[in-house]
Amino acid sequence: MMHPDTELRFVSPEIGFGVFATRFIPAGTITYAQDSLDIMISAGQYAALGPSQKRSVDHYSFIDPDGNRVLCWDHAKYVNHCCHANTISTGYGFEIAIRDIQAGEQVTDDYGLFNLPYEMDVICAKKDCRKKISGKDIARYYAEWDTRIIESLKVADKVPQALLPYMDQEIRESVFSYIAGKTEYKSVLQTQYQQEACL
Ligand SMILES: [Zn+2]
Repeated sequence: MMHPDTELRFVSPEIGFGVFATRFIPAGTITYAQDSLDIMISAGQYAALGPSQKRSVDHYSFIDPDGNRVLCWDHAKYVNHCCHANTISTGYGFEIAIRDIQAGEQVTDDYGLFNLPYEMDVICAKKDCRKKISGKDIARYYAEWDTRIIESLKVADKVPQALLPYMDQEIRESVFSYIAGKTEYKSVLQTQYQQEACL
């Protein structure tokens, strides 16, 4: 489920839709949490789909560490990629704002953490745009991403967390146990789906 202070807006014919903050969202805010309404498509179910359905699923889903495609039920599936995203997937099954997001600003994500089974061309207007992203990006950039996430988790218990009531209890306990210093940090590397055979 996407953070309630966001909405779907049309960006341009090239980009299509995007998700925008309707209010200020501070760094450390959980901006998306996987919940039971999200549609899980197993590798077997995906294989049985027709080409058009596969294209739609490819366009709107991400792949979890077990190889399931997760199709978000709300506007979370319209969040666009940026190589300098303001939110990022964590090893805990939610996404977090890694810097302050102003009202009216587009909420962006790094698709490098989506376990894409193919190389995807991206345009994000940043000077150091990676141009191509794939499931291999997790292994390349995890240390950099973990550093940003750890910084953001330091303030996660000091900002309002509107998505907490929707989060899986196990996920909530696991992240707050880390914040309290009781357990080790869970790296994004753990979200990697071992899909070398597909590449
Ligand atoms: Zn880029």
